[in-house]
Amino acid sequence: MPRVFSGIQPTGEPHIGNYFGAMRNYVALGEQYGKNSIYCVVDLHAPTNPAAFDPALLSQRTLDMAVANFAAGLNPEKVIFFVQSHVREHAELGWLFTLLTPVGELERMTQYKDKAQKLESTPAGLLMYPVLQAADILLYKADTVPVGEDQVQHIELTREIARKFNHAFGETFPEPKAVLAEGALRIPGVDGQGKMSKSKGEASTLGILEPLDSIWQKLRVAPTDPARVRRTDPGDPDKCLVGDYHKLFSDADTLAEIYVGCRTAGIGCVDCKKKLMANITGHLTPIQERAAVLKADPDYVRDALVQGAKEARAIAQPVMDEARARVGFLHL
Ligand code: ATP
Ligand code: MG
Repeated sequence: MPRVFSGIQPTGEPHIGNYFGAMRNYVALGEQYGKNSIYCVVDLHAPTNPAAFDPALLSQRTLDMAVANFAAGLNPEKVIFFVQSHVREHAELGWLFTLLTPVGELERMTQYKDKAQKLESTPAGLLMYPVLQAADILLYKADTVPVGEDQVQHIELTREIARKFNHAFGETFPEPKAVLAEGALRIPGVDGQGKMSKSKGEASTLGILEPLDSIWQKLRVAPTDPARVRRTDPGDPDKCLVGDYHKLFSDADTLAEIYVGCRTAGIGCVDCKKKLMANITGHLTPIQERAAVLKADPDYVRDALVQGAKEARAIAQPVMDEARARVGFLHL
């Protein structure tokens, strides 16, 4: 049976990019593979980007990320769901992997370049991010990694690290594969400034737990196809954020309607946005209702995370022991 692993950073409010790009696949794979699907709030990664890190917010954001995943349909009793820093072996295996990873390759990672470019001084941890990510995955000998397209390069590096470790110390780790969500590879930010990202702040994101009126305020002013200057100009939904989001939230009939409407100038952008907002409302309301119930029961969430960490440790510790022995550390 495949072993699934994925992580999500507590760097801010989870958004529809996280949801369609990754979290929905967590739920689907969780239903298929039960306790062989392992999901993690990767809090050790969060401080690597000082632009999005606040120690006063970290623990609350970690709890909120668990709530968001449970509300989105992940059942912590059926999968393993835990917090990365509760399983110390992640950092230990990450250290071993730094020894196998050329700095030059880390410097070529797109995510690193994007994030480092906005910082005055770059912490070494940001450069090492994909090495720790490789440890996250391989600590569970996972072979299946549901992620968005922005993480594919990191999974490639994970495969390379597994290969190098196996070559240097003997066959230990599988070479995992990324599993991408169809049609939701890289969801653009609502500000029109590239990928939707938690760390870019709320101007970029439509949060899955965000109040619906706040979502509408952002959608209302979101840029559309720049070729459509006047209401009477035809537009192209494939060159428009709102078109991209319709593909996530709207059914085939609505999609057909907005494609024809936009291309013939039969529907204006405001009406097109209103149709989208109605479908977003339909989709997010049950998730937001479940989140409200979970937030009212913090003991349930805490207990689930305590149990999840126990289950994760039971897998991680023997793998770490094996890796230690392979590298030749003294065992007493
Ligand atoms: P940060 O800005 O802190 O990196 P993020 O929004 O990129 O936050 P991550 O925690 O880094 O979110 O990633 C969690 C998962 O969501 C990953 O699998 C990632 O590939 C996926 N993901 C993130 N943004 C998008 C997006 N815009 N479209 C599709 N998938 C995404
Ligand atoms: Mg990211």
